[in-house]
Amino acid sequence: MIKKLEKPLLVTEPSLPRYEDYIDTIKKIWSTKWLTNQGVFHNDLECKIKNFLKVDYLTLFCNGHSALDCAIKQLRFTKEKWPKIGGEIITTPFTFVSTTHAISMNGFTPIFCDIKADDYTIDEDKIEGLITDKTVAIVCTHVYGFPCNVERISQLAKKHDLKVIYDAAHAFGVEVNGVPIGNFGDMSMFSFHATKVYNTIEGGALAYSNVALQNKLNLMRNFGILDTEEIASFGINAKMNEFQAAMGIENLKYVTKNIQNRKNAAQIYYKELSRIPGIKLVDLKQNIKYNYSYMPILIDEKCFGISRDQLYDKLTQYNIYPRKYFYPLISNTPIYKHPNTQNNIADYVAKSILCLPLFADIQKEDVEYVCKIINDISRNT
Ligand SMILES: *Cc1c(COP(=O)(O)O)cnc(C)c1O
Repeated sequence: MIKKLEKPLLVTEPSLPRYEDYIDTIKKIWSTKWLTNQGVFHNDLECKIKNFLKVDYLTLFCNGHSALDCAIKQLRFTKEKWPKIGGEIITTPFTFVSTTHAISMNGFTPIFCDIKADDYTIDEDKIEGLITDKTVAIVCTHVYGFPCNVERISQLAKKHDLKVIYDAAHAFGVEVNGVPIGNFGDMSMFSFHATKVYNTIEGGALAYSNVALQNKLNLMRNFGILDTEEIASFGINAKMNEFQAAMGIENLKYVTKNIQNRKNAAQIYYKELSRIPGIKLVDLKQNIKYNYSYMPILIDEKCFGISRDQLYDKLTQYNIYPRKYFYPLISNTPIYKHPNTQNNIADYVAKSILCLPLFADIQKEDVEYVCKIINDISRNT
């Protein structure tokens, strides 16, 4: 048996700026004593991320989930004074549970649509069959940073008068045909959680092109408070603080380089794993600029010899800790299970997928080691 790693190799590791740079930046907070509520770092970062993502408008939030929550809350506000409750939202079951909770906890019913076997995003051919007179929106995920079929989804939304909100939590920096990913649909949510391609410790944002949303979102993230004497709308507390924003400013300096490092590591995985029988990798397309946020591999048990779960267990014996993202499938969890929905491809993918370690500072030798172990397991089963 090949020797196991001395230190555990986890699926991800957060990117940090230089310690001295972060300390230098936050030092200023001790003189201004401005900790939160649209401080200077916050406003600076909002502008910088908007430019980086090349979107028309961007609103920062304390985390990605709150951003998505506010995006979906916008669907409840019409001309009436009180928020409307109810309606159906077509969504993917193959995502992080945040997407689904944001829908259901705002009073909408998630209607699960199956995904595609080639890139795990929502199957646009199956959306139309799920549209009813109660459908109000499509909320779907650019899972692992692989873009949904944004063109077809726009056409469907236009035809049936539906809103489209993208969960772009994984898609920071992704482009489709030269168009940055935050420019599709009515709104796109980005997450800047510690484990994401770009982080502000915890954080998130909404990108959109309708200027009318800007005031509404600014109000909603701060209790609906317009000024000291006016409460102009409903709202929650979803503000990003100055320590998060300072981390964001420092981390933004490295994000391009970090994505390049991820790409280099992913290329080793692709080279070493694509020949192994029973391991399927997503075909990367020329017209898409990827961010290499995750390294998913699909295990075809019959052909590979052992199951995804068995491979996972074997890898942990070598101190390699991949993750079964996204398992369990949301539509199979007790709270979201529904007897009438079946998502065969999503079901199969959730049982067969494994995300291998991939992060900006991963060592080439570690990637090669993981590949060697998987090759070794494949030859001996
Ligand atoms: C991380 C993530 C979220 C939630 O973002 P937070 O910043 O952790 O609140 C939502 N959707 C997906 C797909 C995610 O991966």
